[in-house]
Amino acid sequence: MKKVLIVSLVLSVFTLTFSILMSIAAPLKPDSKTAESPAPASGSSSPAVSTVPDAEYAFEDDHVTVRVLTDGKVTPMTMGQYLIGVVAAEMPATFNIEALEAQAVAARTETLYHVLLYKSTVHPDADVCSDPSDCQAYTDDNGLHEKWGNAYSSYIEKITKAVQNTDGVCLTYQNAPIQAVFHSSSAGMTANSGEVWANSLPYLVSVKSPESSADVPNYVSSVTVSLSDFKATVLQHYPNAVFPKDRNKWITAITHTDSGRIDTLKLGGVSVTGPILRGMFGLRSTAASIAIDSKNVTFTTTGYGHGVGMSQYGANALALEGKNYKEILTWYYTGISFSSEKDLIKS
Ligand SMILES: [Zn+2]
Repeated sequence: MKKVLIVSLVLSVFTLTFSILMSIAAPLKPDSKTAESPAPASGSSSPAVSTVPDAEYAFEDDHVTVRVLTDGKVTPMTMGQYLIGVVAAEMPATFNIEALEAQAVAARTETLYHVLLYKSTVHPDADVCSDPSDCQAYTDDNGLHEKWGNAYSSYIEKITKAVQNTDGVCLTYQNAPIQAVFHSSSAGMTANSGEVWANSLPYLVSVKSPESSADVPNYVSSVTVSLSDFKATVLQHYPNAVFPKDRNKWITAITHTDSGRIDTLKLGGVSVTGPILRGMFGLRSTAASIAIDSKNVTFTTTGYGHGVGMSQYGANALALEGKNYKEILTWYYTGISFSSEKDLIKS
């Protein structure tokens, strides 16, 4: 149940415009400047000729097939092809290459977790789907042309490099792939997994995250709701809520988690958790303060996403400070090891 909850709640936040799920007519092509040899098509055998001694294939990622549910059908593709579409959908291509590489490793790990350990009951015929609220966002090559326009060539080269430079690298804890969840931006600290989900995982614990309003668009933002809409929304979810004349009694008993996010509060006397509050009012995060006046309730939030695991903007800030992708990943995922995809598949 824990796994279902955690995986199903992964929020991917760079995907607002990619709900148009395209068919995967054309597989993504590796960049000719960076590919050491042509990537075989999905399901094909090893390259006929390899110049790498003792190597069975050019890329470890070529030897893992991922069944991806997108646009209502299941398409098998190589891990390499899939990851290019995930990294491109999940993180801006303008980010530093080390941040994109960290994203590629997180996405590879999350995918392996699905392929090897987690069997979806939502889509049993596919390892992953392209719905970011369930699995990870994925944009196919046609979608990337549409998204990037004239920048396509340079961006696809960069993203392909991020995937190939980290070929086969994944994150493990006690020899198993971790749930490498990530979010857009934090609020000074990331969240413990137990703040957001039912159970805590030892590698998803709160750490400092360096991004600030200088790095992140809308780092601090607000949602304003009229008093009547606020009341109606709460009553819709909690018909037992009571709103006395004194509006200062509408929102009470706010408690905070160790990372400074709203843990619990009472709305009209009913206990509600921070994540539920976030969902009810469409807040960008639970790192929120709340003000109530004669007309409105105003939520002011910092950061974007559930706050657990790697912060993408934080990863970019660390990369710009000179950290490499491994340093970024060990920053956000506590006590993890780097492992080879090939070894995990074999074991
Ligand atoms: Zn899914």
